[in-house]
Amino acid sequence: MNDFKRVNGELCAEDVPLAQIAQAVGTPTYIYSQATITRHFHALDQALAGVPHTICYAVKACSNLAVLSLLGRLGSGFDLVSLGELRRVQAAGGDARKAVFSGVGKRDDEIAAALAAGVLCLNLESAGELARVERVARAMGVRAPVSLRVNPDVDPKTHKYIATGLRESKFGIAMPDARALYFQAAASDYLRVVGIDCHIGSQILEVAPFAEAIAKVLELVADLRTDGITLEHIDVGGGLGICYSDETPATPEVWGATVKSLVAGTGLHVIAEPGRVIVGNAGLLLTRVIGKKQHDDKVFVIVDAAMNDLVRPALYDAYHAIEPVAPHADRAMQTVDVVGPVCESGDFLALDRPLPDVHEGELLAVLGAGAYGMTMASNYNSRPRPAEVLVSGAQWAVVRPREALEALWQDEVVAVLGD
Ligand SMILES: *Cc1c(COP(=O)(O)O)cnc(C)c1O
Repeated sequence: MNDFKRVNGELCAEDVPLAQIAQAVGTPTYIYSQATITRHFHALDQALAGVPHTICYAVKACSNLAVLSLLGRLGSGFDLVSLGELRRVQAAGGDARKAVFSGVGKRDDEIAAALAAGVLCLNLESAGELARVERVARAMGVRAPVSLRVNPDVDPKTHKYIATGLRESKFGIAMPDARALYFQAAASDYLRVVGIDCHIGSQILEVAPFAEAIAKVLELVADLRTDGITLEHIDVGGGLGICYSDETPATPEVWGATVKSLVAGTGLHVIAEPGRVIVGNAGLLLTRVIGKKQHDDKVFVIVDAAMNDLVRPALYDAYHAIEPVAPHADRAMQTVDVVGPVCESGDFLALDRPLPDVHEGELLAVLGAGAYGMTMASNYNSRPRPAEVLVSGAQWAVVRPREALEALWQDEVVAVLGD
């Protein structure tokens, strides 16, 4: 559910007509609804009510400071995968002590910064990383709180690029290797074993893969307890899916009930790392039709947003619903490709899509673009990245202006080398 709705046929973000934002800010522009983000956070938080828990929002889904600040004020922790994300959370006033540091390749300086910031834990992904964290912690004279990210070898039944919990993926530690690594970590003077985590993939629609993964992880937790290693928390990862077209994802309530039923009685604190389910449907990409073009019976709608602004269709073959902002109930339908101006055949937002007949200059909304939209945007074709706007009720604010053209090259240096 989201708070983009039609008033007299005109698409609005909460109480603000999108056309008004386009007129003031231009296009392409990402627009986020504060009410939607807030409701989604509360739904997840409520879903885990009854067990001690921390929601650690996955910053990489949408990392604008206004969004991070909002979530921090709602009580969220954060799931980080880079030093840049740690610094963003700090810049937004978020609490680093409620942050977990994930990722398969943390550099020494990133580990040191995370330890200095007092993160809740580092999620270790390999024996090598365990050794690196121990070395950095020793040099700093601190004890690093660590969790092992195990790979439960579960098929999340999602796109192969976003499946992370299968044996062949680069993520996590194979279950059979985890126990020995826990012994190693527990024996170290510079590591403090606090938890265990898994993250099996993204856009997962059913609870069964989560349940399967958590059950496997809990078996290991029980074995470790027998061996004298008692963990404080289980981090069940993120990955809950959303509705982009006609999917029927498990609700936060069903997901939470499943997590709780498995974890009940273990005494473990539950951490979750949701990203997409909080912000995905809380954002849209507003774009303007530059023109239309026809080859035989193929119609192209050329818009001013492209794969550099929203790469998900090109990268994952992802579906995003697209609607005219203006009233369109009376228009004939036409099957079109919605494409951007970038010089790649992969530059499309939709292929063979039935769309009401749209005209040059009109606004289109690309829905479900709040997660992995702006954070994956690039400057390919020297295109400034979109503006970002946050809406709440009738209020709205530009939370990142459109990138200036000069910003594209301001750090570049014309070095004239040679004779
Ligand atoms: C990307 C990621 C998440 C968030 O995934 P969503 O599908 O957006 O919920 C959580 N944890 C880790 C380790 C990740 O890499």
